[in-house]
Amino acid sequence: MKVMKFGGTSVGKPERMHHIVSLVTKEEEPTIVVLSALSGTTNALVEIGDYLSKGNRTSAKQCIEKLEAHYHTFVKELVKKKESVAKAESIIAEHFEFLNIILKISFSEALSKDLLAQGELLSTKLFCTYLEEQGIDHFLLPALEFMVIDSYDEPQVSVIKNKLGLLLKKHKNKKLFVTQGYICRNSRGEVDNLKRGGSDYSASLIAAAVTATVCEIWTDIDGMHNNDPRIVKKTIPVEQLSFEEAAELAYFGAKILHPASIWPAQQFKIPVKLLNTMQPGAKGTLITEQAGSVGVKAVAAKDNIIAIRIKSSRMLLAYGFLRKIFEVFEKYRTPIDMITTSEVAVSLTIDHSVHLKEIVKELEPFGSIELDEKQTIISVVGNEISKTDDMVKKLFGSIMNIPVRMVSYGGSPHNISLLVSAEYKIKILKQLNKGMFGLE
Ligand code: ADP
Ligand code: ASP
Ligand code: MG
Repeated sequence: MKVMKFGGTSVGKPERMHHIVSLVTKEEEPTIVVLSALSGTTNALVEIGDYLSKGNRTSAKQCIEKLEAHYHTFVKELVKKKESVAKAESIIAEHFEFLNIILKISFSEALSKDLLAQGELLSTKLFCTYLEEQGIDHFLLPALEFMVIDSYDEPQVSVIKNKLGLLLKKHKNKKLFVTQGYICRNSRGEVDNLKRGGSDYSASLIAAAVTATVCEIWTDIDGMHNNDPRIVKKTIPVEQLSFEEAAELAYFGAKILHPASIWPAQQFKIPVKLLNTMQPGAKGTLITEQAGSVGVKAVAAKDNIIAIRIKSSRMLLAYGFLRKIFEVFEKYRTPIDMITTSEVAVSLTIDHSVHLKEIVKELEPFGSIELDEKQTIISVVGNEISKTDDMVKKLFGSIMNIPVRMVSYGGSPHNISLLVSAEYKIKILKQLNKGMFGLE
């Protein structure tokens, strides 16, 4: 069994959906195709939810109408046969009727999750309508029947494995399965999701659940590049990454992968391939246990970081101080990304401010607290980089003009992270591209 996940741009145009069908039907092995929503849809649904939460029904309604018009145009090119057109139109009608009902009732957090799920429900149903029109045998696996998270929002791999296993067993005569990425059910049984970009995570969880031979992530670029292509002009694809390297890059901001999408594949040793739908012949990136080579592979940037410094002379020669500090973050379920210490101060970073006020209040008894918001973590990632000749010289030599707030080195042999003010992000990524990769 193999898993093939296609992202928003890969399904965003009717001709791209046609093209995907040609890719998935080439397969000899039984395949589970995981689809995202059409590009732009989830953003539109988020916007509709924002309007509704503010009570602005008029703007929400306008957004819904615009989105519906887009889907009508889409299916005109997607399917041609009369019955297929009627089916596609009825799918659109069903989902937009739901959106129009949401407009009229009181909005809630749970309803907002239902709203966000519409994109993947629509894309998979429309894709299956096209498969049907082409006479391609397949089965639509409803993600809401097997993808589950617990009360800490963590996917329950063993439950997913059981539920999905049963569904597949029931339909073992099929070779091609289609399912929704991103969406799931939470511990209350409500519709929920794996956070933005979560279809990669779905694919990896599904691959782990069925012990797939490979998990292919098909997107709009030929693999993981050495730097963020949205910011730096000249970037190059990285042919091979270890799970550790890929996980560091995903976690520290390489948008091509959802931050948590590597661990399920890593745990079950399932190779992950990053491939380009628009250029299926390109090598892309292979992610396995092997790193392939030693040295710096890529840099990534993670935005919206808050740095917290706790300064206290009581830290001097004291033990148990860090434990007490960590307990505060644990209490508010806020992960710490970077940490550095001196004898009289500790600096650490978090990536969201949901409980910032409470955290600061509880940290105050430990010393004076300083906050630096709008920070960015720049991570330089590569197998055994700390052992690479000249690495530190090249790294710091290329960014001498940029003030660095924190450095984390040695936590993992594959990563060096720097914290800089967000205003330096573009500059530092460009300078590192030149200084570490020789690319302008
Ligand atoms: P999809 O919709 O297929 O999930 P995403 O937009 O989530 O695609 O991810 C692909 C995008 O990630 C690329 O178009 C690229 O702009 C961006 N990206 C950011 N950093 C990197 C990187 N290091 N390598 C490749 N792509 C990256
Ligand atoms: N459609 C969802 C999003 O845009 C999930 C995904 O594309 O991975 O975030
Ligand atoms: Mg994505």
